[in-house]
Amino acid sequence: MIGEAGRGIPTIIEMANYTRLTCSVGSSAMLRQALVQCLAYTRQRKAFGKHLAEHPLMQAVLTDLALETEAAVQLSFHLAHCYDAEDDLSLAWKRIMTPASKFWICKRAVELTGEMMEVFGGNGYVETGIMARIFKEAPVNTIWEGSGNVMCLDVLRAISHDHESIELLFHSFAETASQEPVLQNELQSLFRLFSQSNSHDLQFTARALVSRLVILAQAVLLKQHAPDFVSDAFIQTRYREFHGQVVGMIDPKTVDVEKLLERALASE
Ligand SMILES: Cc1cc2nc3c(=O)[nH]c(=O)nc-3n(C[C@H](O)[C@H](O)[C@H](O)COP(=O)(O)OP(=O)(O)OC[C@H]3O[C@@H](n4cnc5c(N)ncnc54)[C@H](O)[C@@H]3O)c2cc1C
Repeated sequence: MIGEAGRGIPTIIEMANYTRLTCSVGSSAMLRQALVQCLAYTRQRKAFGKHLAEHPLMQAVLTDLALETEAAVQLSFHLAHCYDAEDDLSLAWKRIMTPASKFWICKRAVELTGEMMEVFGGNGYVETGIMARIFKEAPVNTIWEGSGNVMCLDVLRAISHDHESIELLFHSFAETASQEPVLQNELQSLFRLFSQSNSHDLQFTARALVSRLVILAQAVLLKQHAPDFVSDAFIQTRYREFHGQVVGMIDPKTVDVEKLLERALASE
């Protein structure tokens, strides 16, 4: 017996939560590894007369990838930190944000490792190279330990069993979110949506709600822990512009591309 008799599901859920956390950490690590490969590669590969990293359109792609990677790492490590604590807020993070992060970060890693493979051009597609290997590895984290839909349903289950936990979580975001009208509005709108009682509608929209919850949490964490040029760029690109259909939709007038790329991998 590894748990109390009659308490099988709670026992296995505790184990599953740990492995779901490692899925988020693992996919964040894949993103970080692939990003570093991209930054290093584009600084030495020349096409059309200069290094790939010097071409504005490639800079837009790399900047977007760097922002998303930093947000994924920040979220994963904050979540891991909560596993070392027993206070009510950390418990709410563990219960709600573990499946939410696994859903979002692992799923984004599938798309973004494909984008990062493309940064290498034809070389990226070569089976024995690192980019093809990372790309091939990424989907397993979305599937095992509960696939995407199951993660979203688990977020809803956690909230319906203990509505106070989402109140606590949103309350902890409130002070930071109040510094940015767009975050403040998102927080209020999401709280209303998560509090609705129509279970069919909640399930139907769960992917959208959980995605928005994770992006809000990432924005708050970046505002709390990263330099302003990172959090401002994240919020500006994720909330204020057309975003999400393809990597690289960055406005260079409002985002400090040079600083972000130097932060992602310092030049020698
Ligand atoms: C490489 C690998 C190693 C594994 N190792 C282990 C292991 O060591 N031990 C172990 O126990 N398991 C292991 N698994 C199993 C893994 O955890 C399951 O495959 C995974 O949880 C998905 O469950 P399933 O295959 O039963 O898919 P299903 O439950 O049939 O899901 C199929 C699809 O339906 C969706 N879905 C399911 N329910 C709903 C719903 N209510 N509403 C909407 N959509 C829904 C899912 O999101 C998924 O997209 C492993 C899997 C892989 C790929």
